[in-house]
Amino acid sequence: MITLSNIHKSYNIGRPNELHVLKGIDLHIADGELVSIMGASGSGKSTLLNILGILDNYDQGEYRLAGRLIRDLSETQSARLRNELIGFVFQSFNLLNYKTAVENVALPLYYKGVGRKERTRLAMEQLDKMGLAAWADHLPNEMSGGQKQRVALARAIVSQPKILLADEPTGALDSKTTLEVMDIFRQLNAEGITTIIVTHEQSVADATQRIIRIKDGTIV
Ligand code: ADP
Ligand code: MG
Repeated sequence: MITLSNIHKSYNIGRPNELHVLKGIDLHIADGELVSIMGASGSGKSTLLNILGILDNYDQGEYRLAGRLIRDLSETQSARLRNELIGFVFQSFNLLNYKTAVENVALPLYYKGVGRKERTRLAMEQLDKMGLAAWADHLPNEMSGGQKQRVALARAIVSQPKILLADEPTGALDSKTTLEVMDIFRQLNAEGITTIIVTHEQSVADATQRIIRIKDGTIV
């Protein structure tokens, strides 16, 4: 599903300085895997995940996703591939605070051009699966952290992406809620979605099938 070959990425932090963050990443993730990425703070985990999610580009190497070479894409092409292939979850949930749970979940379908009734139906279906049907008309600030992350998960998968990418998805949750959210990741993965979770929590990594460690810009 995902193949990275010799990926390099530097940030320009003012000439002549360059911060070389990824120094030749080689990585293969098969269709249907549930993996975690661990590494010290600042080791490049988010940088790597942003490249995987086509949110950022890389300087050198090759990234193949679902048979496609992801390189030198325009903003429009990137956005189209993201909408089609990728679901995202973040530590801070990134929900729109002025929209209800069901509106948040339906949003990716709006960008795909799905009609209003169908959007609401599909969004409700996902919320129901997350045990949140009764919360559909609530705003994010009326919900707990675990509930908000479940809304974010529903939003991430409502358009049936091929891969689910999560950057420290349990970083703002207590340990009990963390386990509940990990159960949902495992359930979604069991339904077939390739899942990659960045974390620094061992309990989260232990709930995945494979732990990928990043150190000094390479996979160890
Ligand atoms: P992690 O997620 O593992 O904590 P990051 O990928 O966020 O690490 O960051 C890796 C390194 O790159 C850090 O030193 C960070 O300060 C730096 N960095 C991240 N994003 C940028 C950016 N947009 N511009 C400059 N430096 C950045
Ligand atoms: Mg990070």
